[in-house]
Amino acid sequence: MKTLGYYNGKYDEIENMVVPMNDRSCWFGDGVYDAQQCRNYHSFAQDEHLDRFYRSAAMLKIAMPMEKEEFKALLDSLVRKMDTGDLFVYYQVSRGTGMRSHVFPDSPSNLWITLRPEEFVDGTEPIRLITVEDTRYFHCNIKTTNLIPNIMAAQAAREAGCTEAVFIRPGNQVTECAHSNVHILKNGCLRTAPADNLILPGIARAHLIKACHVLDIPVDETPFTREELMGADEVIVTSTGDFCLRAEMIDGIPVGGKDLLHFEMLRKYLVDEYLEATK
Ligand code: PLP
Repeated sequence: MKTLGYYNGKYDEIENMVVPMNDRSCWFGDGVYDAQQCRNYHSFAQDEHLDRFYRSAAMLKIAMPMEKEEFKALLDSLVRKMDTGDLFVYYQVSRGTGMRSHVFPDSPSNLWITLRPEEFVDGTEPIRLITVEDTRYFHCNIKTTNLIPNIMAAQAAREAGCTEAVFIRPGNQVTECAHSNVHILKNGCLRTAPADNLILPGIARAHLIKACHVLDIPVDETPFTREELMGADEVIVTSTGDFCLRAEMIDGIPVGGKDLLHFEMLRKYLVDEYLEATK
């Protein structure tokens, strides 16, 4: 198959799939999701993504329709149906189906899965960012499908000719990006916002921190400000789709470019780790 859309046991090319209007995703975005990459039909960091997926569902009291091992086998069987093994694999569970009402419906949850071809990005091209005020709520650690502020920020970045938008809380705390985590290198040390309720604990962030430990780069998980971002030796953006990107401009002002050695060590480590795990 070229693409695959799965919904509660039925699947087809994504464009042929339809879902019930009363799915809670339609009314409230009442669901959680996760997404992973596949190369050569091998899933990368699947256990970490599934752990976060099940944790997000539990935090919102959404009952998962199957156990983790069964879900893993389902994902693997769908991956094998694809024409290419280089894929973006997305999964979401919504809180079931019912007439619009804020309280929980009396129905089982719905499982969505989509697969589409995607090549990985090696991070050699620097990117540009904008900053936006972080007006989101205080549950950003839950990977819910409710992403309106992230969507508005991502679109603002696109309209500014940039790749990502960095969120900054009132009070001047840099949190994360619209669909990535952001980190800085300063004096040979990696600084990254703590994995609290203000950011999504990115899987790529966790791999970046592990890479720092292997490469003897100290890690400081304390919040940093816009000024520290702008004055960093390097600004690094990570996500499952784009492992390790270097920013060269924020809000039209040149940034980073002062510690290419450490950036390149990290980028290479993460790319090699991915290529090795999926060869
Ligand atoms: N922060 C937000 C808001 C995200 O949506 C994402 C990815 O979807 C990330 C961070 C990065 O997470 P990961 O590295 O697991 O892809």
